[in-house]
This record gives sequence, C-alpha cells and structure tokens, in this order.
Amino acid sequence: MKAVMARSSYLDWSVVSDGYVAKALEALMTAERMADRWDGITPQELAIHRQVLLGFVRAGMPPTLNDLKMSTGQTLVDLRSSLRSLQRRDLILFEDDVIVAAYPFSATPTQHHVSLGGRRINAICAIDALGTAAMTGHETTVQSACPECERQIKVSINRDGLEIEAVSPKATVIWAAVSDVNGCAAKTQCQSMLAFCCDEHLETWKRGRSAGTGFRLTPEKATQIGAAVFLPFVHSTDRPIELTPTS
Ligand SMILES: [Zn+2]
Repeated sequence: MKAVMARSSYLDWSVVSDGYVAKALEALMTAERMADRWDGITPQELAIHRQVLLGFVRAGMPPTLNDLKMSTGQTLVDLRSSLRSLQRRDLILFEDDVIVAAYPFSATPTQHHVSLGGRRINAICAIDALGTAAMTGHETTVQSACPECERQIKVSINRDGLEIEAVSPKATVIWAAVSDVNGCAAKTQCQSMLAFCCDEHLETWKRGRSAGTGFRLTPEKATQIGAAVFLPFVHSTDRPIELTPTS
C-alpha cells in the first residue's frame, strides 16, 4: 500500500520555509497518518489531551486518572473511553490505566530531555524535544545523547520555537528515519529520530543497522519540523502555556 504524498492540513505549514523540511514532513507525517490522528476528534478528547499536555509541562509528569477527573469533571468511565480513543489516534500511550506518554513527552526515561521553566521533562524523540518550545511558547534547552559516543548534545531554542540560540557540539545533526508507524510512532519511527554529535557518527550508526531511508537535518531544520507538528497541539490562545495553573 503506497500512501499518496500530500500535505496534511493538520500540520502548521506557515513555519516551514525550507523545501527539504517540507519534503521530510510529507514523508514523516503523512496526510493519512495525520487524518487518523485528528479527524473527528471530539471536544471531550481534545479537553483531556490538553490537560495531559498541561500536566506534563507543569509537573514534568502526566496527570493520573483522578487528576483528570478533578480537572475535567468527567467520570472515570468516560475518561478511560476518551484516553483509549486518544491512544488509538496515536496521541498518547495509555497502558494499564496509566498515561505513559503523550507526544512530545514521555513519563518513562528516554535519551532525550527538554528543560523549560526549571523543569526537566523526558521527550519521546529528538524531533519531539525540539518541537516543545513552539508548542509551549517557552524557551527550552533540549538535551540528547549521541547514540554512537554518548556525548551530550545541547540545543537551546527561543520561545517562538523557531530560532536556535545555541548548539553544542556545533556539528550536531539530527536523523529522522522514515519507517512504518504501525499505530504507535513512539515504539517505531520515534526510535530512530536521533541527535548525533557529528555526521561521522551518524554515518557509522547508519552503516551498523542498514538504516533505510530518512532525512539528515540541521538542528534548525529539525526544529522547524517539530514546530510544524506540535504548534497545532495547543490552541494559540493557550500559548505560552502558563506554568502554574490559574484555577
Ligand atoms: Zn557521537
């Protein structure tokens, strides 16, 4: 089955200024997959999705079912049903009554972290981590470990989520592999969205695993992809996300 390359309207193309980034987005975030994610999503599901993301941003961890019951006023039966639907949409991972992840964040340790407002949150992959500044409207520092040498990589992004303020090491590159998502990107495609300290280590890593097709991106271009994917996750009126709840 060959997916037709088309631009999904669920991505924010206004932040994409680069042809290579556009090509990568079309291949990585196919219109078909974005439709599975967002088509027909209910107001209840959106409200819960928002609360899950706010929980991660404010506490570094996802809310529990009881937290969600308090914040949304919904019954546990309705909440479970919506959370299962969000899982089928591949917006969250919900296992044994626990929210394990919600793109871009993970409750379990990963090799990618994002620091914002004094909190350090696990991110599912490098692109997710880089898209967090755009989504939240806060300055972030992304940290990742090179899969070849474990050298620490640091990328600081401004609050618009589009401008890189600092990268270390300077030669950092991001690899975004195209692979079958099988309903859960976190367990498939995201496993090969990685930051490398240099091109040489990216090439060594690719040789070691016949890495298939993918896109080699500068941190700037990878951040543009992250912004295009994650800006639509939060309504513009919510941005910047308030780091302490007001109600
Ligand atoms: Zn390295």
